[in-house]
Amino acid sequence: MIPEPEWLLFEPLIADIARLKAERNAIILAHNYQTPEIFHGVADFRGDSLSLAREAAGSDAEVLVMCGVRFMAETAKLLNPDRIVLLPDARAGCSLAEAIGPQDVRELRRRHPGVPVVCYVNTSAAVKAECDVCCTSANAVTIVESLGSRSVIFVPDQYLARFVASRTKVEVISWSGHCEVHQRFKAADIVEYRARTGAYVLAHPECPEDVQLAADYVGSTSGMIAELAARRPGSALLLTECSMSDNVAAVHPEITFLRPCNLCEHMKRITLANIRECLQRLDPQVEVPEEQAPRARRAVLRMLELTAPAAGA
Ligand code: SF4
Repeated sequence: MIPEPEWLLFEPLIADIARLKAERNAIILAHNYQTPEIFHGVADFRGDSLSLAREAAGSDAEVLVMCGVRFMAETAKLLNPDRIVLLPDARAGCSLAEAIGPQDVRELRRRHPGVPVVCYVNTSAAVKAECDVCCTSANAVTIVESLGSRSVIFVPDQYLARFVASRTKVEVISWSGHCEVHQRFKAADIVEYRARTGAYVLAHPECPEDVQLAADYVGSTSGMIAELAARRPGSALLLTECSMSDNVAAVHPEITFLRPCNLCEHMKRITLANIRECLQRLDPQVEVPEEQAPRARRAVLRMLELTAPAAGA
């Protein structure tokens, strides 16, 4: 919830953004890790990577503002090549996306000839262009199994790769990437915290393996939301980015959301002030080089074709 003194600061910015959205025929897409004043205050569509990709593909707005990080804005641009895609802070990156480059994927293919490559959506367009299909944490198992191959190369998140491997008979060849935010959780802390509080613990599959094992539930951000809605625990601990709890708490006031959580400094680069500024200036715009775009787009579209609209990262 947003305290009243903070709301008084946000309100003029939110009013300006609403006016600019109408003037520019723009929509705002906000990832689950965005702060409540963005998520609830100005976003037209909210959710995980997959649902934002779907909304971007289905929109007829002339301008898309991605309140997330660069790879999400690139994905929106791939699906909307003729529209303006804005990322309010051009520096909003992702440690996981930076963990692998296109040359690494080419080397993996050389070492494992004929093995299809699945890339997590948390990758650059340059990496997606080298892969066969994209996936999110919500649909990774479905995508891996849909390829009909005995083995797949799965990049770049090592923990998500092991999570997928634990749920399929397909051999999963992984890469060594990790998310700096989810990597910070420690299993011993979780065990102790739950013993003290009795909280229901939900972990994202980007968390280290021992943290996942210490949790009551492991799943994507959309999976966590569905699990909370079904189970409705008295108190819950979400082992993911902090704003996720804040945003879900608005939907489930009956659940007490506990800390600790970890902040993603990349996601937190997006603010109401720079959303307003990017709409005023129509800058910074995100582009995908023409030599990458067709192949990267094909990997994203293949994911959308292989997954049902109800599936949701
Ligand atoms: S939370 Fe991790 S995976 Fe998500 S944007 Fe931040 S660094 Fe990347």
